[in-house]
Amino acid sequence: MSKCEECDAEIALPSDALEGEIVTCPECGASFELAKSSEGFDLKPAQTVGEDWGQ
Ligand SMILES: [Zn+2]
Repeated sequence: MSKCEECDAEIALPSDALEGEIVTCPECGASFELAKSSEGFDLKPAQTVGEDWGQ
């Protein structure tokens, strides 16, 4: 279980979560990108207004 950096709500990660996946806080709607850590995943703030990734 990870916590939202904005409102401290718990964010449930899917069991098949992948690095780089975007999750959204159910409480405040903030988006976070999953980054692998030693204990699972960390949440990185993601700027995903419109999905305009230039990949
Ligand atoms: Zn939140």
